[in-house]
Amino acid sequence: MQTIHEHRISTLRSEFDKRKIDALIISHVPHVAYLTGFTGSSAMLVLTRSAVHFLTDGRYTEQARQEVVALPNLTIHIEREWWKFVHEKQLLEDARNVGFEASHLSVAAAEVMKKTVEGREWQPLVGMVEAVVMVKTRDEADAIREAAGIAAKVYDHVLRTTKAGMTENDVAAEVAYVSKKLGSEGEGFETIVASGVRGALPHGRATNKVIQHGELVTLDFGCRSRGFYSDMTRTFAVGEPSLFDRAIFELVLRANEAAIDVAKGGMKVAELDAVARDIIKEAGYGEDFAHGLGHGLGREVHEKPSVSYRFPDDIAPVGAVVTIEPGVYLAERCGVRIEDDVWLTETGCEVLTDATPKHLVIVE
Ligand code: ZN
Ligand code: ZN
Repeated sequence: MQTIHEHRISTLRSEFDKRKIDALIISHVPHVAYLTGFTGSSAMLVLTRSAVHFLTDGRYTEQARQEVVALPNLTIHIEREWWKFVHEKQLLEDARNVGFEASHLSVAAAEVMKKTVEGREWQPLVGMVEAVVMVKTRDEADAIREAAGIAAKVYDHVLRTTKAGMTENDVAAEVAYVSKKLGSEGEGFETIVASGVRGALPHGRATNKVIQHGELVTLDFGCRSRGFYSDMTRTFAVGEPSLFDRAIFELVLRANEAAIDVAKGGMKVAELDAVARDIIKEAGYGEDFAHGLGHGLGREVHEKPSVSYRFPDDIAPVGAVVTIEPGVYLAERCGVRIEDDVWLTETGCEVLTDATPKHLVIVE
């Protein structure tokens, strides 16, 4: 039986003809990790029809030896000047058309590549590797579940310690400290703490604003385990919230739960987005849910697929991990977002963030 790494490599090769390429350069480091298991910060793959060349530099000699999985015809190269090496050693063999990751190679780097590696036709490719790595194994989904398990404990700590009079930055600092203490490998993105009227900012990074009694607080943060991120948002109240804020909360929760109820591998992303969006629209707040329902999640916080009405033809495949994060943002008033991570299966989905309750918690 093929390992997941072999499977991903052979799936990429099976696309060569359709993409009109004879070889592929994979320069996006998280993609290299999905294909080889290597978790360092500097690496590149040269994939031909028969060989896999893994390139890294001297800082990672030992780590590459430990982490890079055994793949048929794989060679590890420890080099400083990769393009020169690719050219001099003719790693691309007789490949005429060579694909590269146009979304992940700067214009300057592509120039150097084309100048140094002579005699090839270059094909800028978008989304080829993304389509392969968005399908996760159970073990990978479990890594996200582990990260979400840490996040559950962090959230519990936040609920026990947050009080009116603290600043948003105080809460963000607790999240950072406690996540690390509980074993999270990293944050993935800057923690969002948006209280009261700042809740209307979907990406309101924590500030020195003081949290007042009666305000809602939206907390969005990530933890990491075995290289995989969780991404979870919860909204809670500090002191009794207004009836209006409560109603907005219940509306967003209903949209979140309805989407999770129907989420399933093979579904159109726009269809899933619509399930949550229609509920919010019917309540009169369609305009105030100004982003897509969610995004893929894994070794990066934002991966494919985008779960959004903006991509009417895209499918969320079986095995994708996506976030379900409807929100309502009302300028100068309040905001609510509730975000879960789900692993899509053939019959539905597994909620990876289910260790964290979602009902409205009121802390004093
Ligand atoms: Zn988030
Ligand atoms: Zn998210």
